[in-house]
Amino acid sequence: MKRSSGRSCSRASCTNSAIKTLTYIYADSTAVLGPLATYAEPHNYDLCTAHSERLTVPVGWSVIKQEITTDHQGPSDDDLMAIANAVREVANSDIKTNAMPPELGRRGHLRALPSN
Ligand SMILES: [Zn+2]
Repeated sequence: MKRSSGRSCSRASCTNSAIKTLTYIYADSTAVLGPLATYAEPHNYDLCTAHSERLTVPVGWSVIKQEITTDHQGPSDDDLMAIANAVREVANSDIKTNAMPPELGRRGHLRALPSN
């Protein structure tokens, strides 16, 4: 079980435990607030409960909030983690920071950006 990573909120001067991870998808101007990521990435921000609830994003951006279930019944945790990981993989492939192959296939609304 990787639920307790011991990471803390990434906001300055906040010492609360992080319970969610915010991922920015720059290509889509979308911020995804989901389960705590199992590993840190440059465009992921761990947030505590208070900061995740007060989340604000730049004008023109949208926010996707993935509900976190506290019970362990059913596949919902795995589903959410799969969604979160898929989002992160797409984000990674868009900015070409590593060698992860885009195994999920391109989604129609995601544009391939020229390298810059
Ligand atoms: Zn915080």
